[in-house]
Amino acid sequence: MIIDEKNISLLSKAAEPSAGELGSILKEASKGKGLGLTEAASLLAASGPDKLAQILKCAGEVKERVFGKRIVLFAPLYLSNFCTNGCEYCGFRAQNKDVARRALSIDEAVTEAKALEEMGFKRVLLVTGEDPRWGLKYIVECVRAIYEKTGMRIVHVNAPPMDTDSLKELKAAGAGVYQAFQETYHRPTYELMHPSGRKKDFDFRLSVMDRAMEAGFGDVGIGALLGLYDYRFDSLASIAHSKHLFDTFGAHAHTISIPRLRPAEAGLKDIPWQLTDDDLRKVVAVFRLAVPSAGIVASTRESAPFRAELIKIGATQLSAASKTNPGGYKGERTLEQFSTNDHRSLEEVMRSVVDNGLLPSLCTTCYRVGRTGHDFTDKATSGEMEKFCQANAVLTLKEYLLDYCVNGSKEAVARAIEKGLNEVKDAGIKKALIEKLKEIEEGKRDLYF
Ligand code: SAM
Ligand code: SF4
Repeated sequence: MIIDEKNISLLSKAAEPSAGELGSILKEASKGKGLGLTEAASLLAASGPDKLAQILKCAGEVKERVFGKRIVLFAPLYLSNFCTNGCEYCGFRAQNKDVARRALSIDEAVTEAKALEEMGFKRVLLVTGEDPRWGLKYIVECVRAIYEKTGMRIVHVNAPPMDTDSLKELKAAGAGVYQAFQETYHRPTYELMHPSGRKKDFDFRLSVMDRAMEAGFGDVGIGALLGLYDYRFDSLASIAHSKHLFDTFGAHAHTISIPRLRPAEAGLKDIPWQLTDDDLRKVVAVFRLAVPSAGIVASTRESAPFRAELIKIGATQLSAASKTNPGGYKGERTLEQFSTNDHRSLEEVMRSVVDNGLLPSLCTTCYRVGRTGHDFTDKATSGEMEKFCQANAVLTLKEYLLDYCVNGSKEAVARAIEKGLNEVKDAGIKKALIEKLKEIEEGKRDLYF
């Protein structure tokens, strides 16, 4: 059993913790070793500004202990909006017949990736609808072509669930993280929201991360589409899913995303289980405390000021400059999956991260040196990742400063590099970092720890 739906249903109705109970759960959480489902359920039941403030503060501290100040930046690249599924909430659903569909050719996918590279991105997340005509073979060709023809250092993939052999092929092409969202872990709601197409099969979707790990993906990304069902149930189920992966494969989910339902063309008229900003703040913090090693990804579904808050309470990754339509980076106006809420450029997002006292990072190291899966979970949970993350962020910022940064932001980025360097605690790493920064100035690239 991957998740125990009955138990999660019970826990999702847990009673509000008393001040004393909250204090003792947070004391345990502050060690950065994670929390059990019962404790996570109790935190999710907490209400009122005082309790929320305590949870958020603890989550912010744990985030910094595990990953340092770094916030990783990336962009999604939508390959195709053809889809044979009927997901009630999505603009790409097959029933949305009034719109022109578009699938990028392999060359066009490369052009989009180059457009992102010119902005300074080093990691990209490929995204597609589900249509056998643009299935595994197509995605694999896109991954390979982007590595061959652009300077992208890591290509992650968000693609529909597949069998183990297909996942092996995707991995062999060099895909970094395999990501697919369960949307909701609540079966009856899942059935209602997915009336047609291959995605109807709840269990095939729920079991894909096991297949991905069996296929050799150390790193997988999970998430629930928040707003489809009770956020307490779906957040607990996401934590349970990650714990199942840890118990079975020794690695927690590499990332947990927090997509919140947005308006989409021909999508749902009303959000079935609306969650407030405070609810989402709490979800981010509880993920951080329950699964400290997981990256928490906040996309442009959320507004700029709200994302600036989320990175202080546990989120570790932001997408930036995102277009959710194929060809979007070249300026095409094809069908969007959903409308975004933060239209800032990479540079503007970087500036805001710096202004919030944090360190933007374009790092791609772990996937490329095999610091993945079990090894990553171990290092993150033991507090060993922080020194790598901080130093690597500084290195990538230096490259960004020299190769991409425009005049208006140069000073701010240079200051962030200086501050990031000064904050490195490990004397040996600091010394080596100063050397590597010099090498970058002399023209070397892609240096890391
Ligand atoms: N088609 C693949 C699938 O369904 O697995 C790829 C993913 S889809 C293009 C990316 C994700 O966007 C979905 O898994 C879903 O969680 C999210 N999404 C879909 N419609 C959305 C909406 N209206 N608002 C916010 N997120 C949405
Ligand atoms: Fe298709 Fe994915 Fe959208 Fe569902 S969420 S309609 S599968 S693109």
